[in-house]
Amino acid sequence: MVNFTIQDVLIAAGDDYATVDVQVVDSKIAAIAPNLQVIGTAIDGKNKLLLPGFFNAHTHSSEMWQRGIMSMFPLELWLAELYDFAPLDPEEIYLSALGTAVETLLSGGTSVVDHLVLIPGLELETIAIATRAYREVGIRAFIAPLIQDESLTAGMPSGESAQTHEPYFRSTAATLEIIEEAVKQFHRPDEGINILVAPTGIQLCTDALFQGCTELSDRYNLCRHSHLLETKAQEKLAQEKYGCTAVEHLKRIGFLSNKTSLAHCVWLNDADIAILAETQSTVVHNPLSNLRLGSGIAPILKYRQAGVNVTFGCDGASSNDSQDLLEAIKIGSILHNVTDSDYQHWITPRQAVEMASLGGANGLNIADKLGSLTVGKQADLVLYDLTNLSLLPRTDPIGLLVLGRPSNVVNSAWVNGKQIVTDGKVTTINVDELKQELFNRSQWKTKRKSETVAQIEAHYRTFMGL
Ligand SMILES: [Zn+2]
Repeated sequence: MVNFTIQDVLIAAGDDYATVDVQVVDSKIAAIAPNLQVIGTAIDGKNKLLLPGFFNAHTHSSEMWQRGIMSMFPLELWLAELYDFAPLDPEEIYLSALGTAVETLLSGGTSVVDHLVLIPGLELETIAIATRAYREVGIRAFIAPLIQDESLTAGMPSGESAQTHEPYFRSTAATLEIIEEAVKQFHRPDEGINILVAPTGIQLCTDALFQGCTELSDRYNLCRHSHLLETKAQEKLAQEKYGCTAVEHLKRIGFLSNKTSLAHCVWLNDADIAILAETQSTVVHNPLSNLRLGSGIAPILKYRQAGVNVTFGCDGASSNDSQDLLEAIKIGSILHNVTDSDYQHWITPRQAVEMASLGGANGLNIADKLGSLTVGKQADLVLYDLTNLSLLPRTDPIGLLVLGRPSNVVNSAWVNGKQIVTDGKVTTINVDELKQELFNRSQWKTKRKSETVAQIEAHYRTFMGL
């Protein structure tokens, strides 16, 4: 059992701050008040800010291997390039999961939703090795094995030309069996490892796959995760495929719920937004990816006004090209000051922090256990060093954390009461070794040629009218 007491630490209190002690007993927050008796280890919180851990609510860890090199492409072409060079060695999956966890932790996140790209033929092995990586680091992991049952070209509207698509290499039933097996082997919420059902999106999945996922979600009480209407092309495709919007269709087939989180949500109309509110679905805002791929700007302030829960994700490092959660939170907040002129709806730094913490917990249906500094909740906590140059001089600490350019500001982090960052360093794994492995298994390069892009680019340009 883990017990400790953080002394003299700054926390948000109403719209101000308070200096308090925080007792953690048996991995849960036991008391928050000034001058508490020390239980367990005493932690010096002086000149530090304590916040609940954030959620990196949508990423793809293995994209780390291609960050910085991906062409300047929109999603449909970018995906083709990505998959032509995707890592196929489980050891690489392991290393990029470690890297994703470390970068998430050092930018304020204590939970990560990894929409995990599976190595064909080694699906369970991929899930197993990512699970091992997250267990070793100690970050709270929501592993969402990325599945589809249609081939890549089916993800684009046909436009004027009739298209035929290769069948996907694995049957829908076989894919669902893999997920069910993964749940049996790895889904251990009490130990910080969760499996989600995660069809990649309407563009590459049949109704049978969505419905199979919904059944697994109901049977094993799993959260549901998917991409949703990331691009204009997907909006067109939904009309071709269903004759209605993707959101109307997902509602009809029963995928939307209070344990469903949807990445991107760029191309939704007002009726769609009302459906997300009514079904209590969560939007995961990935602003950097949406900018990098030219996908568009998600109508986040409309979601908030409609009562839709919103949280933040980095998205995979190939479309970002980092895993800096604080950066995603900053851009995801101030981006909307140019899209919505009524400044009274603009996202304040404190609102951004709440979206990143409680919003993330809500999206995974665990807001009763995580997401805020509340007595009784589990201790997923982050301590920021307010004497760091990037957080000086002393103004409004949360304001500067969100709006500034904080670097190396995470002093300590705990997940379920276990300290896994101390003095700015992840202590559970050897990060120097990780860096050496990432270095050794890669090389500097500038160019490569994607054959799939060469095959599909002309069609893409035609249906997009380019
Ligand atoms: Zn994604």
